[in-house]
Amino acid sequence: MNSILMDVTMENTISFRLTEEQDMIRQMTAEFADKEIKPFAGEWDIKDHVPMDVLAKLHELGLTNIGVPAEYGGQGLDNLTRYTICDELAQRDAGIATTVVASSLLASDPIMVGANDEQKKWWFGRMLEGAMCGFCLTEPGAGSDALGLSTKCTKDGNDWIISGTKQFITNGGFAKQFTVFATIDRAMGNKGICCFMVDKDFPGVKIGKKEDKLGIRTSSTTEVIFEDVRVPGWMCLAGEGKGTPMLMETLDYSRTAVAAMATGIATGALNASISYANERKQFGKPISAFQAIQFMLADMATQTECSRLLYQKAAWCQDNNLPFKMLSNMAKMYAADTAMKSSLDAVQIFGGYGYVKEYPVEKFMRDAKIMQIFEGTVQVQRMVIGKYLTTEGKYSYTFS
Ligand SMILES: Cc1cc2nc3c(=O)[nH]c(=O)nc-3n(C[C@H](O)[C@H](O)[C@H](O)COP(=O)(O)OP(=O)(O)OC[C@H]3O[C@@H](n4cnc5c(N)ncnc54)[C@H](O)[C@@H]3O)c2cc1C
Repeated sequence: MNSILMDVTMENTISFRLTEEQDMIRQMTAEFADKEIKPFAGEWDIKDHVPMDVLAKLHELGLTNIGVPAEYGGQGLDNLTRYTICDELAQRDAGIATTVVASSLLASDPIMVGANDEQKKWWFGRMLEGAMCGFCLTEPGAGSDALGLSTKCTKDGNDWIISGTKQFITNGGFAKQFTVFATIDRAMGNKGICCFMVDKDFPGVKIGKKEDKLGIRTSSTTEVIFEDVRVPGWMCLAGEGKGTPMLMETLDYSRTAVAAMATGIATGALNASISYANERKQFGKPISAFQAIQFMLADMATQTECSRLLYQKAAWCQDNNLPFKMLSNMAKMYAADTAMKSSLDAVQIFGGYGYVKEYPVEKFMRDAKIMQIFEGTVQVQRMVIGKYLTTEGKYSYTFS
């Protein structure tokens, strides 16, 4: 067992404590983010600035490579530790957390799930040298219906030629390598989908429009355009037409990472609200003395705790080779909805000061919204959970 989050002990009790090593990494992340990210995040957000120098420092700490396995030179972190890092980063700035997740987990999960040794050496080796990564799935005409994509891949001798436009790609502005989903022929449906590793420097890879976003403004989101890009055959992951199951498994992993980020936003909004409510006086008392405020804080705290338990349970299942599809979708949906509601309540607790950029909570609210949209909207998660339950024919929490 890698993680002992819920390790059943000799006494048959359940422990929810992080291991000493997991907690040390959590603290190291929190300390770094408190010093290097939190004090500046508001200013970067206003300037729509991606702090590349901070990403370089995160790289030195190994935090941009949290998905790299030990056998390929990484730290070989278990999933619980990876998501705990995402949670801690998002408490301070969800844009930087998104940058890390998109590179180290989302774009790299197809490599974990479906790559051979040669492919893993290429991808992870470059990451360890500092290459950031992007995940190219969404297209102007294919969002929730991701498998309705129209980027084409055509075999040419031993190579493939890829053509099409990808939309809303996180890290598009600076990624050095991409995982790219394309179809041999749309008429083949799910069986025609292939996934490739693509070097940003291959001729024909172009970075298109940069998005001016509502939130997570410290992350880069752009179009990525593939104009007859020639990709060597060995860079096709898992084989011709094998992209669909890889994509599904990738999303089940990465949704847990989004759940962790959303939990981080809810935590940040809650802690800011508690401090403010204890300081702000109206009617001769701190506003925290009013039941209306206490009830909001109580709901925010309870829902944040539930969000964290859900993503931790999904992580525990991943680390123990147990099914986790339903849990990761539940975690993403619940934590995203919680982040949105808690950050809205945080603005309410701050009153007029919640509405202005001098205080941190309007940024939490703007950052929270994307958690309900990317890596499948919360409607898509409800569809996945509903389908899972009705296909299984029962709900069970025991894995039996
Ligand atoms: C900041 C940002 C970063 C992103 N990063 C990446 C990235 O790195 N890589 C990548 O590939 N993509 C990325 N995306 C894309 C993201 O995953 C998609 O935006 C998302 O999946 C939704 O797709 P869509 O925007 O096309 O919305 P649509 O699919 O058009 O959905 C619009 C609305 O219709 C609803 N809807 C659609 N179908 C159904 C249905 N069957 N039943 C009920 N409701 C439905 C949706 O829930 C939503 O409310 C990013 C997006 C943003 C904004």
